[in-house]
Amino acid sequence: MVPGTRLVILGKQGAGKGTQAVRLHRHYAVPHISTGDMFRAAVRSESEFGAKARKYMEAGDLVPDDVVIGMVQERLTLDDARLRGFVLDGFPRTVHQAEALDEILPEPGVELVVDLEVPTDVVLKRLASRRVCVECGTNYSLEKPPSDPEVCDVCGGKVVQRADDTESAIRRRLELYEEQTAPLIAWYMKRDKLVTVDGIGDPDKVTTRLIRAIDRRLGRGGDA
Ligand SMILES: [Zn+2]
Repeated sequence: MVPGTRLVILGKQGAGKGTQAVRLHRHYAVPHISTGDMFRAAVRSESEFGAKARKYMEAGDLVPDDVVIGMVQERLTLDDARLRGFVLDGFPRTVHQAEALDEILPEPGVELVVDLEVPTDVVLKRLASRRVCVECGTNYSLEKPPSDPEVCDVCGGKVVQRADDTESAIRRRLELYEEQTAPLIAWYMKRDKLVTVDGIGDPDKVTTRLIRAIDRRLGRGGDA
């Protein structure tokens, strides 16, 4: 049994962060806490927060700190995360959020921050080729389209490019991400809590790389 741990995973959109976060959640038996999932749930619920968050997301902007911090704090104080740890995905995005996270958590705060590194031109290509079924949400790409390019193999729904997946919208999101995350990475590096892992290649191999890097840094596992 691998003991629980408090992890943060960073990575630009299209780096495979969500997929890898789910795998780390299974491996370390800790909850996967994704702000993206939280936003999607909020948008569906048509709550006051949902409407607020949706406005920013539709414009391709990040949801502001104060809105996000309260939501994450509420989640982290639930028993599963409090007792066993977590893989935090999509938070923190700014130094201000990282400072807030330190205040939320007991000492020593986050144990390790993993930066999943994929060059911008690679994610730009991945994201621009992405297609999605409007009915069931199944993901396709120009490289792996459904048998009829506009019809979902799973449900027969219409397969489209998301409105916010145009090249200019993607570039704008990546620039925002770089702008906000660079100081965050420096902040964690200074505290000796950052490890960078190469996110290019087969997802299984990336997972192996991640687990090795995490176990090595936390002094666990056999290949330290
Ligand atoms: Zn479908």
